[in-house]
Amino acid sequence: MPRYATLFVANPSMRATLLRPILGLTVILALSPSLGAFGDSGHRVIGRVAEIHLQNSRTLAEVRKVLRPQETLADATVWPDTIKNPLYEDGDTPLFRLAHPAHDTYHYTNVAFQVPRYDLSLPGARTTDILQIMRECTRVLRGTSKAFTPREALRMLAHLVGDVHQPLHSGNSFINASGALRFVLPEGPTGWRSTTGGNALLYGPQDRFNLHSYWDTHIVNLAMQQDDVATYAARLVKEVPVAPGWTSPGDPDTWPERWTNDSLVYAKAAHQDIRLTTYLGPDDAGRVPHRWRIEQPAGYDERSRAAIRIQLAKGGYRLAAILKAIWP
Ligand SMILES: [Zn+2]
Repeated sequence: MPRYATLFVANPSMRATLLRPILGLTVILALSPSLGAFGDSGHRVIGRVAEIHLQNSRTLAEVRKVLRPQETLADATVWPDTIKNPLYEDGDTPLFRLAHPAHDTYHYTNVAFQVPRYDLSLPGARTTDILQIMRECTRVLRGTSKAFTPREALRMLAHLVGDVHQPLHSGNSFINASGALRFVLPEGPTGWRSTTGGNALLYGPQDRFNLHSYWDTHIVNLAMQQDDVATYAARLVKEVPVAPGWTSPGDPDTWPERWTNDSLVYAKAAHQDIRLTTYLGPDDAGRVPHRWRIEQPAGYDERSRAAIRIQLAKGGYRLAAILKAIWP
């Protein structure tokens, strides 16, 4: 999801589906713009890939006990984005929002894509960023923390394992405040500006698209082509072999950091050869202070599609792995 979706949504193609019971009827409202992240499709694919890896396991039986009857792991992945919409309400959500008013900031970390590895002391890292919240959710499900209910923790974890594999949720970019435009590290109190995970890097007709949405939704749609979630997930499991680097040794508490560092490699590639052409200043509503126009290099779609295919397959595999570690 756009990290700052409530402030800045440049991609009008995104949709949220809001379910509201009215006079006994369920009315489905299609809202635009919306708060989908990794698009719903990316998250659901990762949830479905994990289910395939967990077929007929005790782990999946334990997962089902936490979820509602008929609710799949793929369904569970999208709740943390759905509840960013302030109009959305369900029985699970009011107490969660009250306890976690900044829940919409749990979905990413803002360390610079150039850093070799994540560290909590880096600018952009937080004690409530994606990596730390994944660790906390795992502790809740293993019975050593009460920061969330098990149901909240499972749905948050299933979502965030997806988000961390979206390169721009793991590596932010910063641009120098003066001189020829270039990506820089956020060093010193001034002299650099945040692109908010690529949300402020615009391209296309009337600058209507942004690089964050490109990685959340556009490239996922390009990769899926005409497949639905179930078909594409099955295809990924069949066609993308599990690589040694997907598996994490040791304590699951250390896995989210490994996954963030792995995703930083993809964040570097996502910014490679991007041309920063124009500084655009704030948006008309004055809600986004800095925006830039970019140009993607030749072949960007092809290389990004190959990358996201691996990230979706890997994200699903790793979601299954951490759930297995919780419920062996
Ligand atoms: Zn998210």
